[in-house]
Amino acid sequence: MPRGITILGSVNLDHVVRVPHFPEPGETLTGTHYEVFHGGKGANQALATARALPASVSCDALLPVHFLAAIGQDAGGRALVQALSDDGINTDHVLELSGERTGVALIQVNAEGENCITIVPNANGQFQALTSEQAGVLARTSWLLVQHEVPHALNLAAIRQVKISGGQVILNPAPMRDFELSMLTDVDILTPNETELEALTGIPVSDETSLAAACEIIHQAGVPTVLVTLGARGVWLSQQHEDGVLIPGKTVTAVDTTGAGDTFNGALVSQLAQGTSIKNAIRYAQAAAALAVTVAGAQPAIPRAPDIKKFLE
Ligand code: ADP
Repeated sequence: MPRGITILGSVNLDHVVRVPHFPEPGETLTGTHYEVFHGGKGANQALATARALPASVSCDALLPVHFLAAIGQDAGGRALVQALSDDGINTDHVLELSGERTGVALIQVNAEGENCITIVPNANGQFQALTSEQAGVLARTSWLLVQHEVPHALNLAAIRQVKISGGQVILNPAPMRDFELSMLTDVDILTPNETELEALTGIPVSDETSLAAACEIIHQAGVPTVLVTLGARGVWLSQQHEDGVLIPGKTVTAVDTTGAGDTFNGALVSQLAQGTSIKNAIRYAQAAAALAVTVAGAQPAIPRAPDIKKFLE
């Protein structure tokens, strides 16, 4: 069986309601435009990975993409997993936890377009240990991609399994949570945005000098490569014992930046797993993320390989 890419992480049903203003305590509001979207950083990044792979690679299953996650016993969670499977992702080892609900994000968007988000982890928070089948998938993983929406202990167990088997690990430390730098020992590539890098290191990031100083702290924690995503400005690449370098992104007119980081991380791992150099993988991932911000929504905006390639030409 070929060694593949594994994304371990969260699944959320995003309930989005538009409101004239955010409610005060005790106020009852009438909202408009209620919709449910598929989300969760794990699911978004798995989708971004699968879509960024050329059909020749994914169809022949030369590079299988596995998603490891937990949903509750509900139709919403099952539909979300089915949609991932329809996009070519192996979801055989997504757990359905009895007596649980799938994770939810309750998102209110006001007239100014600002949002207020409440996340209830549900099954994501109860996903606390790997099954032996999941450990088997991780033992056949060449690249693992994880985020911060499932328990740290689960991520650490998955990371350890992949490292024992000779694979490599990308940690996207989003959203920011209490975190010990000692948990980074086995991480090969860390992909924070500026806010996450500041929170991790305690260094306010404002320019190249402070970026370099903050990345040095991450290197000292044992991470050889740090990619700091800087929104429209691009990516700061810092490799241990080398000077950091800014890799500018593609210029686009942004419509909705939700999911830019998720698209970037998924597209990045899709390239690294094919043996692409780090700089070229970053360029490809930036093109994917730039395309994603030109379309509304998270999962519907995640582009496919032919469109990413065309955009790069
Ligand atoms: P996050 O969504 O995690 O905060 P960023 O906002 O840094 O992450 O975006 C991740 C990547 O997406 C960036 O490094 C860049 O490549 C791309 N990106 C984000 N916003 C834009 C934009 N307005 N124009 C072009 N590319 C963008």
